[in-house]
Amino acid sequence: MLSVRPRIQQLQEYHPPLSRRTGLRLDFNENTIGCSPRVLQCLTQITAEDLARYPEREPVEVLAAQYFDLAPEQVLLTNGVDEAIHLLCEAFLEPGDEALVVAPTFSMYEIYAAATGARVARVQCDSDFAFPLAKVLRSLTPATRMIAVASPNNPTGSVATREQLLQIATAAPDAAVLLDEAYYEFHGQTVIPEIEAAANLFVARTFSKAYGLAGLRIGLLCGPREHMPALRRIASPYNVNIIALLALPAALADREYVDVYSEQVKQGRERLARELHQLGIPYWPSQANFLLVKIGPLHREFVAAIRQRGILLRDRSADSGCDGCVRITIGIADHTNQLITALRAVCIELNLRPKVTA
Ligand code: PMP
Repeated sequence: MLSVRPRIQQLQEYHPPLSRRTGLRLDFNENTIGCSPRVLQCLTQITAEDLARYPEREPVEVLAAQYFDLAPEQVLLTNGVDEAIHLLCEAFLEPGDEALVVAPTFSMYEIYAAATGARVARVQCDSDFAFPLAKVLRSLTPATRMIAVASPNNPTGSVATREQLLQIATAAPDAAVLLDEAYYEFHGQTVIPEIEAAANLFVARTFSKAYGLAGLRIGLLCGPREHMPALRRIASPYNVNIIALLALPAALADREYVDVYSEQVKQGRERLARELHQLGIPYWPSQANFLLVKIGPLHREFVAAIRQRGILLRDRSADSGCDGCVRITIGIADHTNQLITALRAVCIELNLRPKVTA
């Protein structure tokens, strides 16, 4: 009788709450105003012939490599960072191996790693959510074959420094170290230039966040020349669809659009932090396009009351170490204004009792 592999039966489904997402979307860390108009313009030119052909990834890969100052052999365009994670797990993990993740973090590392039969070791952050370098180094074992770190991290917004990441890559030469820079544009620090020298460092970037292309599913994985052929071998030759491939050059050509948007987000982040301080709502410093806030036992009511005002937030209280926490995506100034108006009203409605600030 047909039966699913036991390892897969045990996996928890990652089921993002995507239904009925009407209103201001501050729940999935997307771009709140969408992509560059140049991308939309380019998509109006799509022909039946374009759609009839299998997509050709390589020419766009060459362009993307140039954009990131890399050689084409060092990059692979992927179906979002999700696929990049999946490919790395497939290429480097076997049953009995260990994959190390820092908790709390993005769920897909654990899901794809566990699906291979590898054991997932979670290194829990302290309550300040600072990157737990010493604990990560202590948790390495001879079986460690993969270490996944998001910097900035989701859902905390905290970062690992270049030095910390290189220290890990050096300490674990038999492991693939994945640095997920999905939120790079809101932080501005990257380890992409280190790929040339490190033999085991991979960096993932996405076009889902600052570029506003989450619906197209396109990301980029870069890593050591020696190992990229293995990832190409297991990826579908058509992993990135033609619409995404046609859109990407237009998105890359409008760097200014992404710069202006990211700048607005950074200003909104400061503004929201000041407002939270005044309202007495604790939050963690973030280098991403979101802030994680501590609401406490009323987190569900808080998300529901903000939703009543047309704004979607993401309850993260089930994440490890995030009891009572809600994640708020930051968009353009107008969206931050709407959010702040709703926050003030909901604090009164729920009697969240702001701390008196000096
Ligand atoms: N990595 C991190 C850290 C994320 O937060 C997300 C999106 N939530 C992703 C990857 C997924 O990116 P993509 O849309 O490119 O698959």
